[in-house]
Amino acid sequence: MSQPKSRSPRQRAVVATNGPPEAAVDQERIKAAVREILLAVGENPDREGLRDTPARVARMYAELFSGIGKEPRELLTKSFTQKYEEMVLVKDIGFASVCEHHLLPFTGKAHIAYLPNGKIVGLSKLARVVEVLSRRPQVQERMTEEIADLLMSDLDARGVAVILEATHTCMTIRGIRKEGSVCTTSAMRGGFLIHPQTRAELMALVFGAR
Ligand SMILES: [Zn+2]
Repeated sequence: MSQPKSRSPRQRAVVATNGPPEAAVDQERIKAAVREILLAVGENPDREGLRDTPARVARMYAELFSGIGKEPRELLTKSFTQKYEEMVLVKDIGFASVCEHHLLPFTGKAHIAYLPNGKIVGLSKLARVVEVLSRRPQVQERMTEEIADLLMSDLDARGVAVILEATHTCMTIRGIRKEGSVCTTSAMRGGFLIHPQTRAELMALVFGAR
């Protein structure tokens, strides 16, 4: 994961496509901004406990926003020809994203299903798509649709279903403070949208055993 310290802007842009987490983020700028925030709230950024905080937060943001500038489409270019017409479902893909309205984390699980059309993709690639799309300032509703539309078009699938369940810290630790509330969003495409039976089968597989 270690990267050469000096990088030309051009190399930086290339690395940002699907490179290491720290590639696309100006950590020095974040450090300065965090120091400003500490000053603005009346803290002393030079006291022992806070001295390394700006650098720590900069590294954290580099990780949380490592999906910025990455193209999730690139993860789906390698597919396999397979005569399998039934549903493929990957449940409980954990993710951690950042709500773009408050810059607070929202965390949860993604459930992704698709109906192949002679083409399947490595199962881990579905998790990687979630990873890239979650590691950027996000809105859960948009992320749900982005995953669904991407899989629908790039897998040439007959149907795609995406369900996201997440807890938003902007709702649990501030504002209305509804501890434990979970937001569920879903996007149905193709077969999952037009065939109630297929959708019912999906729901039973995702939520049935709870
Ligand atoms: Zn929020």
